Amino acid sequence: MKDICETLNGFARAELLRGPTPLEPLSRLSDDLGIDLWIKRDDMTGLGFGGNKIRQLEYYFGDALAKGADSVLITGAVQSNYVRSAAAAAAKLGLDAILQLEDRVKGMDAEYARSGNVFLGQLLGAEHMFYSEGEDENGADRALRQRAEELRQQGRTPYVIPLGLDNKPLGALGYVNAAREILDQGPAFDAIVVASGSGQTHGGLLTGLRMAGCDTPVYGICVRRDAEQQTARMRILSDKLAELLQLDAAIANSDIITWDGSLAPAYGRLGDNSRAALHMMAQKEGLFLDPVYTAKSFAGVTGLLQEGTITAGMRVLFVHTGGQPALFAYQDEVTQA
Ligand SMILES: *Cc1c(COP(=O)(O)O)cnc(C)c1O
Repeated sequence: MKDICETLNGFARAELLRGPTPLEPLSRLSDDLGIDLWIKRDDMTGLGFGGNKIRQLEYYFGDALAKGADSVLITGAVQSNYVRSAAAAAAKLGLDAILQLEDRVKGMDAEYARSGNVFLGQLLGAEHMFYSEGEDENGADRALRQRAEELRQQGRTPYVIPLGLDNKPLGALGYVNAAREILDQGPAFDAIVVASGSGQTHGGLLTGLRMAGCDTPVYGICVRRDAEQQTARMRILSDKLAELLQLDAAIANSDIITWDGSLAPAYGRLGDNSRAALHMMAQKEGLFLDPVYTAKSFAGVTGLLQEGTITAGMRVLFVHTGGQPALFAYQDEVTQA
């Protein structure tokens, strides 16, 4: 397949991340679990509390700046890391940010609506708008485009960062690049485990590895949809990404692996196995996972081990995608016995 750097150079990129994030062994957890466990610290991408969205936003903001945008609009859950990261990138690059918060997670307390990422979004000076439907991805995009149209009428140049699958997956380019970074940092892994939500992280990583000729299995841990739905989503996203990168061959169906054993009870709500995973990482390694994504993706590591997909002695890379600010909005959910 094509050379990754050369291919990525064809896309506009706004630099938000300088240099690689650390790739480290987790020795105490390795001892406990009987595997050789490593972590890719993409919680340390730096800007505005970091996380995986910084890599994705480099390409959206690159495109926005190339198009002369003066403002960006983005949508996500109330405690979205994506909208918080976009507000930080907008601040750094001198654009206005308009954040649309969707009512995706039911039954949460007052802290959820106020603390964590919501609070940070306010500090970053972003404008907030609300969308009352949490499951209507295309509707959320339409509402953003409507607001963008209003801004256009006022003589502004808005840029919409869309959520729906009928758009170019520019964000996945950041993880094509991260795949190259992981391969450069070594060592070789038997399995890579990562959260799979919109799928841009999972899809970009998988595509980047295969472009580089690396066939390590990538386990996408479902955080929003069940495995069947997420696999269908990843098929579409991988094809869109192959088209964007002008690859000769798409990702094979057998390469798209999803696992939903830690999805329950719902998006944005913690099950017992994910809560246990969050506590284990804190108490064994002094590292914080987040309640919405990485608690579930790390519960994927322990779950895949329990069911025998990951076996003793394997060298496994867990990709930490960030999200820790939401911990403060989820205190009851995280500490509940
Ligand atoms: C958004 C997010 C994910 C999921 O990434 P996608 O590219 O949307 O699949 C994982 N972890 C954290 C912390 C996130 O904020």
